[in-house]
Amino acid sequence: MITLEVRRRESLSPGFARVTLGGPGIRHLVPAGADQAVRLFFPRKGQSGLRMPTASNEAWMAQVLLMPKASRPWVRNLTIRSLRPEDQELDIEFALHDGSPMTAWVSRVRPGDAAGIFDLGTMYRPPAHARGRLLVGDESALPAILSILDSDPDASPADVFVEVAAAHDIRSVPTPPGVRVHWLSRDDERPGVRVLEAVRAAELPEGPFYAWVAGESRLATTVRRHLVGDRGVPKRDVTFCGYWRLGRSSPG
Ligand SMILES: Cc1cc2nc3c(=O)[nH]c(=O)nc-3n(C[C@H](O)[C@H](O)[C@H](O)COP(=O)(O)OP(=O)(O)OC[C@H]3O[C@@H](n4cnc5c(N)ncnc54)[C@H](O)[C@@H]3O)c2cc1C
Repeated sequence: MITLEVRRRESLSPGFARVTLGGPGIRHLVPAGADQAVRLFFPRKGQSGLRMPTASNEAWMAQVLLMPKASRPWVRNLTIRSLRPEDQELDIEFALHDGSPMTAWVSRVRPGDAAGIFDLGTMYRPPAHARGRLLVGDESALPAILSILDSDPDASPADVFVEVAAAHDIRSVPTPPGVRVHWLSRDDERPGVRVLEAVRAAELPEGPFYAWVAGESRLATTVRRHLVGDRGVPKRDVTFCGYWRLGRSSPG
């Protein structure tokens, strides 16, 4: 459990904000790159400070749930978009949306506010035999996809499919050679529909490739089912993860 403080907040587009957290506690975080994620703890509206659990094993969640709501923090999963140990800083990029404790926190944070993290490690594991990569996700997975691309610029070629809530969130991103990014705007469609259509229609990398898929839970399962069932990709070459569930709040 590492307690940090907010250093700054920047808007990246109407639907995205970056918050930089910092402090000496960063030295306890082992940089793993790629899609390294954390549990982020932040105060509820009206709380004067942050109360963190103390257990660094599975008991922490029980500790949080046993706290009275008046002092219990919110807990959400987020990706480390970039880590700068030399500056004792890390960045997190938030996909903003209505009805969200996380979005409300991002809109009210001020430099000096406390926030805590707990390292979750990585899921991205391309096998040695992969000659290409397919990265698929929605806005919640965009920070992880960009971080994967940054952390291994010499990796095999990659096709990237990203669905964002609206066209105003499509931004220019630096891409290493051999990486093609295909943006999809969801507009009024259900999350994951547009990106699944695009992957279905795509010519996928030739030869064995590794697929990493994350986003709304149905997006993750339907894209994985398509790759395994219709395209014959071996299950072991697909990493998939539901990052959030439509209509359901994250526990904690
Ligand atoms: C390993 C991992 C890494 C993640 N990394 C990031 C990251 O770097 N940046 C990021 O923004 N998210 C990331 N997420 C997703 C994030 O944890 C969830 O979106 C979370 O539910 C956000 O909490 P909330 O307070 O906004 O909404 P909640 O209180 O959990 O949900 C409230 C409502 O909002 C809906 N909702 C939740 N997320 C979204 C969304 N993205 N778009 C539209 N509606 C939504 C829910 O269905 C629910 O109806 C990650 C998730 C995982 C598992």
